[in-house]
Amino acid sequence: MGYGKVTKKELDLLRKIVGSERISTGKSVLDLHGKDESFHPKRRPEVVIWPLRAEEISRILKLANRKRIPVTPWGAGTSVEGNPIPVKGGMVLSFEQMNHILELRTEDLQVRVEAGVLDKELNQYLSRYGLFFPPDPGASATIGGMVGNNASGIRTIKYGSTKDFVLNMVVVLPSGEIIHSGTNAMKSSSGYDLCRLFVGSEGTLGVVTEVTLRLMGLPAEFMAAVVQFSAVREATDTVSMIMRSGLSPTALELLDVPTIQVVNQYKKLSLEERPTLFIEFHGTSSVALKEDLEVVKEICTDHHSLWFNAGIGREERNRLWEARHEVHDAIKAGNPGTSSLVIDTAVPISRYSEMVAWGQKVLEKKGLKGYVFGHAGSGNLHMEILGITGNEKERLKVEGAGEEVVSFALERGGTATGEHGIGIGKKKFMKREHGESLKLMKQIKELLDPKGIMNPGKMFE
Ligand SMILES: Cc1cc2nc3c(=O)[nH]c(=O)nc-3n(C[C@H](O)[C@H](O)[C@H](O)COP(=O)(O)OP(=O)(O)OC[C@H]3O[C@@H](n4cnc5c(N)ncnc54)[C@H](O)[C@@H]3O)c2cc1C
Repeated sequence: MGYGKVTKKELDLLRKIVGSERISTGKSVLDLHGKDESFHPKRRPEVVIWPLRAEEISRILKLANRKRIPVTPWGAGTSVEGNPIPVKGGMVLSFEQMNHILELRTEDLQVRVEAGVLDKELNQYLSRYGLFFPPDPGASATIGGMVGNNASGIRTIKYGSTKDFVLNMVVVLPSGEIIHSGTNAMKSSSGYDLCRLFVGSEGTLGVVTEVTLRLMGLPAEFMAAVVQFSAVREATDTVSMIMRSGLSPTALELLDVPTIQVVNQYKKLSLEERPTLFIEFHGTSSVALKEDLEVVKEICTDHHSLWFNAGIGREERNRLWEARHEVHDAIKAGNPGTSSLVIDTAVPISRYSEMVAWGQKVLEKKGLKGYVFGHAGSGNLHMEILGITGNEKERLKVEGAGEEVVSFALERGGTATGEHGIGIGKKKFMKREHGESLKLMKQIKELLDPKGIMNPGKMFE
C-alpha cells in the first residue's frame, strides 16, 4: 500500500489542531525542510507544522496514521546523512517553537527541556550555574536531533555520547499514544531500557517531545596542547598510546595536512602544514594536569613529535577548537562547486592507525580529493570525500570510495557510523554490521509503527 497525500482536507484538520499560523505549504519553507547538510538529493515535504505540545503531536500522528501519511521530525536539519530529509514527502514536524528549558534542578545536576532547545543555547544557560551538557556535535543542533542521532563529539572520550545523558523522556508513538520512559534516578535496573531504544532511532519509532538530561559540573582547570608530526602514522600511533596509558583526555583530535591547510585558510590561522593532534584535558587541579601533560609530552616525543605547544591560553584554545568545529564549513568554502560524502566510521582504538592509513590510501587509489580528520581518541575517523556537484559518474566514484572505507571498519570490529547515524547513505551497511539482529530491529519498528509512517525510507533498505 502506498503512502497517503496531504490533501486540502488534511490541511484543514491540521489547522484545527495547531492553528493556521503554525502550518505552512509555502515553497521556500518546504525547500528549507527538504534538505540537510548532506549530499543526498533534496525532497520537499507536503507541509511543515510547528507544534507546541505533545498533545498536538498526538493528534497529528493519529491523523497521519489513519491516512498513512509520512511524518518526519525535524530538529535543525544539521544531519550529514540525510536523516531528516522527508524522502517520501508528507508532513515535517519542526521543533523550532518547542524550545523551552522547562526545569533546572541544580541539586540533582539535571535539566528538563523541550526537544527543540538548541544545544549551544542550553550550554550557555547552564554555564551560569557552573554546569554543562557535554556531548557537543559542533553544529547548531537541537536536543531532539541529538537524541535522534545519538550525537557525540570532541568530548566523547571523557564524558560519553547523548545516550549516556538521557535519564527520561516523553515520546509520542506513531499511534498517537503519549508515553513517559525512564526516571530521575541516576541508575536503574528496571525493565527494558526504552530510552536507549529511542536514542539513535532517527525519528523512525516516535516523536520525542521532552527530555531530562544528566549534567556535569564545568571543569575548574583545563590544559590544551597542539602537537605536530612529520607523518600521520606517528600522530595516530600517539593517539593509541595516550589512550592506553591510563590518561583520560577530554578531547584528542586528528587533522591531516589538507585539513590543516583548509582550516588555516578559512580561519586565518598559521599552523604548520603537518599532521596535527589537538589535545585537551579537564581536571580539578592544575598540578594534576601538569603531571598528565608531562606524560603526554613523553609519549609524543617517543613518537617523534616535531612541535609540542601546550598550556596555550584560554583564548587561543577556544580559537583552535572553533577551527576544529568549522572544518566542514572550511572545506565547503575552500571547494566551491563540490559536494562531500562524510564518513564517520569508528573502530577499536588499536585499529585506528590502520583505519586512517586505509582512508588515505583509498583517496589516493581512486584519485579523489578528500580530507582526513576525526575524534581520534574514540577511534572515530572523519573523512570528507569530494566530488563535483551534479556529476553522476563522480558521485558513484565517491560512494565507491566510501564503501571501501566503511568495509574496512566493519571487518575490524568497527561501525559504519560512530555518530552521524544511518539516514539514507548507511542503510546498505546495516545487514553487514548487525547480521541476524537486524531482523529484530525491523520487528521492533513494525511493532511500534506498523504502517511505517515515521521517517520512512531511513534506517532500513
Ligand atoms: C559542521 C557540522 C559538524 C558536525 N559535527 C558533528 C559531530 O561532531 N558529532 C555528531 O554527532 N554530529 C555532528 N554533526 C551532525 C549533526 O549536527 C548531528 O547529527 C545533530 O545531532 C543533528 O541535530 P539536528 O537538531 O540538526 O537534527 P536533524 O538533523 O533535524 O534531525 C536528526 C534526526 O533526528 C530526528 N529528530 C529530530 N528531532 C526529533 C524529535 N524531536 N523526535 C524524534 N526524532 C527527531 C530527525 O528525524 C532525524 O532523523 C555535524 C554537522 C555539521 C553540519
